[in-house]
Amino acid sequence: VVVTREDCLARDAQDPIAWLRAEFAIPDPGVIYLDGNSLGRPSNKTLARLEHVLHEQWAAGLVESWDDWITLPLRAGDALGGAFLGAAPGQVVVCDGVTTNLFKAIRAALELRPGRRVIVADPDDFPTDRYLIAEIARDRGLTIRWLSSDIDEGLTPAALAEALDDEVALACLSLVAYRSGAFLDLAAVTEQVHDVGALVVWDLCHAVGAVPIALDAAGADLAVGCTYKYVNAGPGATGFLYAASGLHADLRNPMPGWMGQTRQFAMGPTYDPDPGVRRFMTGSTPMLGVAGVDSAVETLAPAGIEALRTKGVALTELLIALHDAWLAPLGFRLASPRDAARRGSHVSLEHPQALAMSQALRRHGVVPDYRVPDRLRLGPAPAYTRFVDVYDAMLVLRDLVLAGEHLAVPEDGTVT
Ligand SMILES: *Cc1c(COP(=O)(O)O)cnc(C)c1O
Repeated sequence: VVVTREDCLARDAQDPIAWLRAEFAIPDPGVIYLDGNSLGRPSNKTLARLEHVLHEQWAAGLVESWDDWITLPLRAGDALGGAFLGAAPGQVVVCDGVTTNLFKAIRAALELRPGRRVIVADPDDFPTDRYLIAEIARDRGLTIRWLSSDIDEGLTPAALAEALDDEVALACLSLVAYRSGAFLDLAAVTEQVHDVGALVVWDLCHAVGAVPIALDAAGADLAVGCTYKYVNAGPGATGFLYAASGLHADLRNPMPGWMGQTRQFAMGPTYDPDPGVRRFMTGSTPMLGVAGVDSAVETLAPAGIEALRTKGVALTELLIALHDAWLAPLGFRLASPRDAARRGSHVSLEHPQALAMSQALRRHGVVPDYRVPDRLRLGPAPAYTRFVDVYDAMLVLRDLVLAGEHLAVPEDGTVT
């Protein structure tokens, strides 16, 4: 055996960010939660902050609480940008949801390249991104050039190069692929796209809080992301939008609203956007979501993204080593990049019975995720997952497959 349970306990004992787990609300210590890349666990700080917003700010403070709330989207944006996005202040706003922000970012980027008719996109990107890009292209009479990326290995520079020329207005790409976890080189891809005079709109959903992101250093244009995965801000918590300060003056919000208006309370006759990133706000944004982001960043920032990344790599390396030793002989195949530098913080394992296995695992208190086609998606979030959790989960998986337990799961995958 490559590694023992004792090895894993020893690694937990030496883990420099092991203390972070105690910051999280874990009412179910017997459960091994490997779906933190879909919905992160809440921290105690975040639960307390939401209570504060409900009781002190809303119930007691009523409308006066808007004095605090009105600037929170930008304050939380600066905090998130500084801790996780490599963004200097004034470029990130926490508002709306990912899909809405993606719409605003893509439409605004297109306006900067009026003569260009092509959007480059990945046919394996997350569905909401593809649906939205298809509709924007239809609406604006543009063409989509679909990349040929591998569903397990992701996009290569050569495949991207094939799609780029001077007709391209923008490329819309996920930094970490939602299914395989394939992790692109933000700076290299941004440069490659800029070289043909196009812009990049980055989707950072599966990356933020899991991998280091240096938007300013990469010369990035626009980016969006969610905050309910590795950031742990809460179910459907408010998303974010980054726009590089050098572009602000030229960026038009295609959904203008009073929250982006420069003198908001003048109630003026015409829309005159805020000079900064606040121009990307639309209407009132859900404050529970923004407060969730602010407190989630407070929870994670003391650990730092470098330590989270180091642990994320170590956890996924362990998972892959156990896959190789225990699961590959049982018909599993690694469906994520093997090179840690090209992988985010989750791993997919392909097996024809993956769906049934994902249900059988739940009966043993292991919560995985499943993605078509036939992939168990395992996301050991570094903030609160221990090495021993990965070991135990993989052992459960091996043993249930050896016992044929998954074969007893009904075809429709219902848990009984
Ligand atoms: C999770 C995710 C989304 C989610 O979009 P919402 O509007 O928040 O539902 C979008 N894109 C990617 C790449 C994701 O991983």
